Order: sequence, then C-alpha cells, then structure tokens
Amino acid sequence: MRYVSTRGTAPALDFREVTLAGLANDGGLYLPDAWPSLTRDEIAALAGLSYVETAVRVMTPFVGDALSEDELRSLCTQAYGRFSHEAVTPLVQLDHRHWLLELFHGPTLAFKDVALQLLGLLFEKFLTGTDRPLTVVGATSGDTGSAAIDALAGREHVEIFMLHPKGRVSDVQRRQMTTVLAPNVHNIAIEGSFDDAQAMVKAMFNANAAGTGPLGHLRLSAVNSINWARLMAQVVYYFYAAVRLGAPERAVAFSVPTGNFGDVFAGYVAAKMGLPVAKLIVATNVNDILHRALSSGDYSAKGVVATPTPSMDIQVSSNFERLLFDLGGRDGAAMREQMAGFEASKAMRLTNAQLQGAAGLFGSARVDLDDMALAMRWACERAGQVIDPHTAIGLSAARASDLDVPVVTLATAHPAKFRDAVERATGARPALPARIGNLFEREEGYETLPATLEAVAGYIAKTAA
Ligand SMILES: *Cc1c(COP(=O)(O)O)cnc(C)c1O
Repeated sequence: MRYVSTRGTAPALDFREVTLAGLANDGGLYLPDAWPSLTRDEIAALAGLSYVETAVRVMTPFVGDALSEDELRSLCTQAYGRFSHEAVTPLVQLDHRHWLLELFHGPTLAFKDVALQLLGLLFEKFLTGTDRPLTVVGATSGDTGSAAIDALAGREHVEIFMLHPKGRVSDVQRRQMTTVLAPNVHNIAIEGSFDDAQAMVKAMFNANAAGTGPLGHLRLSAVNSINWARLMAQVVYYFYAAVRLGAPERAVAFSVPTGNFGDVFAGYVAAKMGLPVAKLIVATNVNDILHRALSSGDYSAKGVVATPTPSMDIQVSSNFERLLFDLGGRDGAAMREQMAGFEASKAMRLTNAQLQGAAGLFGSARVDLDDMALAMRWACERAGQVIDPHTAIGLSAARASDLDVPVVTLATAHPAKFRDAVERATGARPALPARIGNLFEREEGYETLPATLEAVAGYIAKTAA
C-alpha cells in the first residue's frame, strides 16, 4: 500500500515512512492511495474475535510489507495489554437504541491511548537500527499530550516536545503530562490557545520540510491525528463495535464527539472498507465549524470559546482536509488551491461535490452547555452511567437523531478526567481510577513560553538531543 498527500506533490510513501513522517512535505496529509475493503464474509468472520485479532485483520491491508502479521500481532498484544478492560473497548447498553463504546480504558483515560500506545511501539520498531533519533513535536488540547507522553516516555530513539495551552487543560490532564519527568519528555505551556499551538507546530513542520529554520537539522515527526497510523488504529474499534451489534447483517450508526475530525474520519474509513455504517454523527460543542460546514457548506473559522470539553475547543479541524480531498475526487491541485484560499481568509465554501458526498453518510449537531449537562444527567439517572462532558456532547447528538438502527456514542474520556464538570452536572464526583495513582502528589515540570514561533522553535533547537 502507498500513501499519497492531499496536496498532490509530496512523494508517495509506504507505511513505515508515513508513520515516521506525520505531515507531508507539501503541507498536506497522507492517506492511502486506494481504500482496501473487507468482504461481507470477512466482516462476518470478525464476530467473536478478540480486540487484538480484530486489530490485526483490520490493519493488515494498511501495513503492507512494513511488518509481518506476527510482528503486527505482537505490537498489538503489547499495546492493548496495557488496557484495564479485557475487551479493550467494551460496549455498554444505555437503552433499546443507544450504546456507549468505552474508549477510555487505557493508561491516560482517553481514547487517544488506543492509537498512541500502538504508535509509540511502531516508532520504536521502525527506528531500531537507524542512527537519527526522531523528534516528536505536538500540540495538545489535553488528551493527545498525556497519551503521547505515556506512549513515548523512556522509549529508545525518540524524544517528545508537547505544547499545551496554558491554563486551558484540566488539572488532571496537565498533571498527566507534566509529572512524567523522563529525560526524553519536554512539556511546554504556551501563553495562547490550542489553535496557536497547532499553528506553530504546522509552521515548524513546514520549515523543517523545506530544510529551513532553527529545526532544519532535526527529523521531526507528529503524534497528533495528522499522523496516518493513529487514524488507522482507530478504524479497528468501529469494526469491533459494529460486529458486536450485528454487522454486517445490520447497519450501525456512530455519534462521535469531534474536534480535529480524526476519530470520525476513522469511522469514514471503516465505511469505505465495507462496514455497514448507517450514519456518522459529527457532534461538536459551541465551537461548531464542522457542524456549519457539513450542514451548510460554510467552513469559516471563528474565535475559540473555552468550554468544559477542551479537547473539542478548536476553530480549525486539520483532518477535515482528508475528507474534502477524498470527496472532491482526490484532486491534489484543487485541494492545494482550496486550502490556500482558506489559509488566506480563514473561510471557504465546500464544493457541491464535497457537500453532496458528505450528505449521505454524515450528520452533524452542535450541542450547547445545557444540552451537554442534560445528557450527563440522563445517562446517570436513566442508564446508571457516569459520563464525561465530551461523551455527553456525543450522546446528546445521538439522542437528538432519529435513526432506527443501533446508535453507538463514542465515550472518548473517563469521567474522572473532568471531575469538576461531571460534579456540576450530576452532583456525583467520579473517583480517580487506581491506575492513575498518586497523580496529585507527584512533582511537575514544564517550561512556559510565549505563543511565538521564535520562542518555541528556539527552545526546541537548544534542548533537543
Ligand atoms: C481528542 C478528543 C476528542 C476529539 O477527537 P478528534 O479526533 O480530535 O475529533 C473528543 N473527546 C476527547 C475526550 C478527546 O480527547
């Protein structure tokens, strides 16, 4: 399998190269040159398989020759062995129509562990025997950072610099990052928003790709969802859940609390591979650029509003470009032009082909604070489930839809990660699970920097090994 860039000019890569590269050097995002498919019989044969076996079957076509099936199985066994639930991503039934897919049983209590635990192992595997270390630079609105740091701390040949918006991540999220004091882990608190942090990371990658700037000599890589391998790992749980609810005979819908459009894009990939997905509901908070784009074609950035769902507080969704590219006939030149227009004016219209292409599979909803709190209370009082605010955005959107198929809401974070918001809505304060340990007693370490490229790139240049 080869991977091509959404902007058409970066070289095509194989799976090993695309995993190490992150962003394409033409500023685009990589995706497979064609979607592999599983036949109906192959999907039916997933019934009853363990999470790890499902992962091997779903990911093998994407991995190609980069790993043998046994190597892939061994990495999956190691990655998912760190989850606290035997099912890895268990389904919980809420009522006759609604389910939760619990994605938060990994080490840092958010769904990002599912992909990043595997990605950390892929990095180590692919870097063994090379003499150039990998410098991972990332921006996080909270959960990516802690999951990436847990996945990479102490690993050979990799170092990580993680930017978070100062004061805009929860205490649990911050401490999960800043209390990891491994020498290859560097936390940076940016005096700005997540979008500022993400824009700086993009700029550093672009300069690095052009061989310029203070980081020109480093081998940079990404762990945010611009990295293809992350999305690939997330495709697995769509299959795992749908098969348990009757696929391929019965279609299933998913409601996905969405920020950077990575998680829901993995659902799109699953549908492209042949999984009968009735609907993908893109659930946003009041930062609703994706809801506006999918419902009316208006993709225009507004200022970010801070909410109790910080992992969805974005004004621009980087992975949306992958969908627009695929729906727009995979025309790299057209995509380059469309994105240049967006980068200049912070606004663009979806083309008719993109809007109509999305309409069949995607639905969307914007969920405000009241409806979020209502969903948390409903889950608690009617279904006996304490859910986190992000999951509540998804559940609210799921319940507002009127679909006559099973609707699975992706439960993206453990409620204990957002205890204050959960307590405000439901009166119950979720306990920190034992695997988080003494998080509030551990020492923290991080650097605070202004949100300027000079300051951040300069710091990375002088600190990187
Ligand atoms: C990252 C995150 C999201 C958003 O996922 P995307 O892939 O960025 O759309 C939603 N909920 C939680 C808890 C997250 O950590």
